[in-house]
Formats: sequence, structure tokens, C-alpha cells
Amino acid sequence: MAIYDPKSLKADEFINDGEIRDTLRWAEEHKNDAALIREILDKARPVKGERGYTCKGLTHREASLLLENDDPAVLEEIYKIAEEIKLAFYGNRIVIFAPLYLSNYCVNGCVYCPYHLKNKHIPRKKLTQDEVRNEVIALQDMGHKRLAIEAGEDPVNNPIEYILDCIKTIYSVHHKNGDIRRVNVNIAATTVENYRRLKEAGIGTYILFQETYHKESYLKLHPTGPKHDYDYHTEAMDRAMEGGIDDVGLGVLFGLELYKYELAGLIMHAEHLEAVHGVGPHTISVPRVKKADDIDPTAFDNGISDETFAKITAIIRLAVPYTGMIISTRETEEVRSKLLRLGISQVSGGSRTSVGGYAGYSADERPHDTEQFDVSDQRSLDEVVRWLMENGHIPSFCTACYREGRTGDRFMSLCKSGQILNCCHPNALMTLTEYLEDYASPETKAVGYKMVEEELKKVPSDKVRSIAARNIEDIKNSNRRDFRF
Ligand code: SAM
Repeated sequence: MAIYDPKSLKADEFINDGEIRDTLRWAEEHKNDAALIREILDKARPVKGERGYTCKGLTHREASLLLENDDPAVLEEIYKIAEEIKLAFYGNRIVIFAPLYLSNYCVNGCVYCPYHLKNKHIPRKKLTQDEVRNEVIALQDMGHKRLAIEAGEDPVNNPIEYILDCIKTIYSVHHKNGDIRRVNVNIAATTVENYRRLKEAGIGTYILFQETYHKESYLKLHPTGPKHDYDYHTEAMDRAMEGGIDDVGLGVLFGLELYKYELAGLIMHAEHLEAVHGVGPHTISVPRVKKADDIDPTAFDNGISDETFAKITAIIRLAVPYTGMIISTRETEEVRSKLLRLGISQVSGGSRTSVGGYAGYSADERPHDTEQFDVSDQRSLDEVVRWLMENGHIPSFCTACYREGRTGDRFMSLCKSGQILNCCHPNALMTLTEYLEDYASPETKAVGYKMVEEELKKVPSDKVRSIAARNIEDIKNSNRRDFRF
């Protein structure tokens, strides 16, 4: 039997089934230990020092204990701390991105995904480089600067060379004042060599959802294809880091397995990355299984309510305070609104989950034939941007960090240094101004400029504030773009 060791590079040892079961048993036994709960909540709280805030985070055991407790007063406290942490490290900024589906060819048999090999009634499509260009122009015309590319796993149709070609094409398109400045990549687990090539192609985060940390279920949910190999999939982030990728994004597809097991596994994965590579995950995503062609989410009997989902999100925020958290358009406006107060720092907007879903379609037309899942939040990017601002969040199109070499632990040090208000805040305001000037509706523009004016006052350094103000004027009065600190 495998023994738990967060420093091990073997999947069964760093995501250890025995340790997870023990954790869940321990959490059940101690769930009403008020003194312990208080101690854990106190540990989670951000502490203000001379150089900004610091946070200790929580272990998988502590996080599991909070999840097990069902006192409404404790839950309120968890929510309050989650919001404090979000504001301490990420301020009121929300980073915006969109997915770009390149190909739905796939050789895997994932039972929850419509792209599975045996699905014969979904048309298979792979974008040509010309089509990639058109999609990118459509995305730039909406105002996007940051994409997450998505593809099924198919070594013949979507080899790494195809993905690399697409990344090159995406970065090469400069339409009007637009450009895509950060391409995050969500493709199947691959080799160290391929991760090195992705890194050389200038990718931002490498994202790979674990789907489930429960090995036995994983094997059943991925019955065929290369993704069936649980160890290879689970150890992918270590290979990515070995290949030089500093920023990796974790995620669980909630609904497949028992959420308590998943939360413990997810936090253990973050602990493992920290223990081995000295830096935790750059982001964590919290997708839930959605209806899709050939897929009925009710067939998975581990679906979670909106309340449980919110609680899990907030606990992740407490456990890994420096990690960005992502919520996609799988969720409704209502759910997204709530989660934005509980630690989410990135959202997608105006998303299409079909291959070739952007170019040639108006804001309210969406092709469904190659769609990966139903999109619940179908608002345009302009509507999402306005909604965020009306709720006090600054939509940020900033991509400065990795372009300035602030990846991995350097990004984490920025987070911990208290310099975010002198760096990320003006960057958010400058990129928001680009959006307002080049793409926003008059209504959004009015709300936005008011926000930029107010938020600029919050930049602590006089020097930074005056440079940012000058750049903002430059953006309004010229075609000069892409200022950053
Ligand atoms: N093929 C790659 C892989 O295996 O990791 C790329 C990822 S796929 C395009 C993106 C993610 O969509 C998957 O990791 C999965 O978690 C999620 N997904 C698949 N089917 C879904 C569904 N029916 N509802 C919600 N999310 C789904």
C-alpha cells in the first residue's frame, strides 16, 4: 500500500487514498470541536504587516474539517475571511479571459465529455490557421487580451506541432488596436519535452483539470484512451514544471465524485507542488459538470448544490490564499455574483465552447453543433464588464506579470509584498481604459471612466499614480497601447 508523502513524485503517494480517507474520518470526528474550528479560522485570516498582508493558508486536514462543520455562524465566518483574503491579495480586480476551442477531435473515452471518441453524432472540427486567425480577430474585436486554448487529445489530428502553430498564429494577429498578450493552454497531459516546447512558445499558464482525485472512479470515468492512465495524468504538473512552466492551473470537475474527497485531494495537490517545486498552483478552477451533447449531468450522482459549491470555493480561498481562482461561464450570473465575493479572481466572458464559435456570429447567435457544454452565462463581454463594475469589481485585461517575468514564486512574492496596489492596480486601470476606449458600448464606457477616475486615487505611490494617469490620457488620445508596470 502506498504511503503518503507530499514530496514524492508518485501519484499514489502525494495524492494518497489512505491519507484522504483518514482525513475525512478525522474531520467527521472533530467537526464540532469549537476550539479547533476557531484556531483554524484564526490561522486562515490575513495578517497585516509592514510590507502588506501575509496568510498562512490551511492544510488539507484543516480545510476538510471546515467543510465538514455545518454551523451557519462558522460558514458566515468562512465567507468573511474568504472575501478579506481576496481583497488583501487581489484587491477588487477581476481578470478577464475567454476560451478558444481549436479542435474537438479526441481519442479518449471520458464519459462526461461530448468529445469522447464514441460520440458519432457530434461533427468533428479542427480549425485551420486561417480559421484561428479569424477567431482571434473576432475575440480581439470583443476586447479580449487573454485566451485559454482548448483541444481534445488526438495525437494524429492535434499533435503538439498543431498546438504550437496555433499559439504562433494567435500571437501574430494584431487587428486594429487589438492583440492577444497571454495564451493559457488547456490540453491533455503530455511529455516534459512537449511542455518545454509550450514554454518556448510563450504560453502563460498550463491548465489541466484532474477531473477527480479518486483513482478508482477516475479509471471508470476515463475507460479508454491515453487519459485512462491516472498516474500519468496526475503527475503531469510535475512534468510541466520540469519542462520550465512555472504557472500551472489545477481543477476538479465537481459532480463526478464525492466533493469532500475532491477538496482534500485538490489541497494535497497544491501542497505537493509547494513541497516539491517551492511554488503552489498559479490558479485553481472550479468547474461543475454541465449538460452537453450525449451527456446528462444528472447521470452523475455526486452533483453539488449552489450552497455547497460556494462553501467549497470559499474554503479553497482560505487554504491557498495566493492562488488565483477561476470561474467560467458554466455558471449562471447569479452563482458567479456570489462566488466573486468569496475569492474568485478570474472570470471568462462572452465565451463560446464550440470549435469556430466566434467568427461570423453575432453577440446573440451561438453555434451548438460542436459545443463542449452548455454555457449558462450567455451575456456579451460588454455586459459582463459593465456588470462587474456595477458590482464594485475592476475588470482587468492585464497580462503584465508573465511578460515581465513575474511567474511562479516571483508572482507569489509580488502578491506577498504589498506592492500589488502600485503594480496590478494601475495595470488593471490602464488595460480597462484600453477596453473602454476601443470596444465598450457608450453605457459601459460611462460607468468605466467613472470607476477608473475613482480607483486611480487608490494607487499609493505618487510617482506610479502620475505615470498611470499620463498613460491613461495617452490611451484616450492616441493609438498608443500596452503600457504596463
Ligand atoms: N482534452 C484536454 C484534457 O483532457 O484535459 C483538454 C480539456 S477539455 C477541452 C476542458 C475541460 O472541460 C475538461 O478538463 C473537463 O473538466 C471539462 N468538461 C468536459 N466535459 C464537461 C461537461 N460536460 N461539463 C462541464 N465541463 C466539462
